[in-house]
Amino acid sequence: MKLQTGKKMLDRARAGGYGVGAFSAHNAETIQAILAAAEEEQAPVMIQIGQRVIRSIGMEPMVRMIESFGRKSEATVAIHLDHGNSFEQAIEAIQLGFQTVMYDGSHHPLEINIANTRKVSEAAHAVGISVEGELGRIGGVEDDISVDEKDAMVTDVNEAIRYVEETGIDSLAISIGTAHGLYKGEPKLRFDRLAEIASVIPLPLVLHGGSGVPDEAIRKAISLGIAKINVDTELRQAFALKSQEIWRNDPDEYHLAIVFGAAKEAMKEKVKEKIRLFGSGGRG
Ligand SMILES: [Zn+2]
Repeated sequence: MKLQTGKKMLDRARAGGYGVGAFSAHNAETIQAILAAAEEEQAPVMIQIGQRVIRSIGMEPMVRMIESFGRKSEATVAIHLDHGNSFEQAIEAIQLGFQTVMYDGSHHPLEINIANTRKVSEAAHAVGISVEGELGRIGGVEDDISVDEKDAMVTDVNEAIRYVEETGIDSLAISIGTAHGLYKGEPKLRFDRLAEIASVIPLPLVLHGGSGVPDEAIRKAISLGIAKINVDTELRQAFALKSQEIWRNDPDEYHLAIVFGAAKEAMKEKVKEKIRLFGSGGRG
């Protein structure tokens, strides 16, 4: 495994007009699935560690597993902290060997978000680690949000300019109508706002809530400046559906290696499909 900073990986993607997949890992098999897909497609990938898996397994065991499996892999990887919730957590990730950290202060008022993100940025940059910030709110599909509220959540262009200038971040997650989880209907993306933001902010832009967004919309978003797409739900779904299928056919299959081995293959195919959609194959 070749480790690369988030900045290098994403600057190349924005300049090259393709997207890097940031795929969430949850256990040993999901790490293996992402590494295998990246290697087979020769694609740069981010392996994301999110807050749920930090609570259930812990940051350090996840990083050590990635490093361990990575020894036998040719993949180009950046280990990424997803939705980092504090300065302390970002520092812990940096100490453990992450190449990129997200600090998500988007639920705070702008001033506090700026102050906190800048603190993370300064510390991370001092040791060569990249930082993703977020502006605008990305909700969950399960959230009951009115149309007016949805509009208010979309990233504001002038705030984005100020946020980027004052924090020194390397990539910016924006809210343009996507949500975390699986959509009930088709999400309506605010391409007008994305184009406006991309025209004044040269940084790689990040799209959260990539699961279930139609392929055409993803291609268009990449063409307009999105350089990193987070995919989690669709991967967990591929893994879970394959496990369910095996247990439905054979409820007495208690060999977890068999069940999760098959689930891993199913998830690997899903990751490969996303890499091809994002155009990052052969860029590793
Ligand atoms: Zn997210």
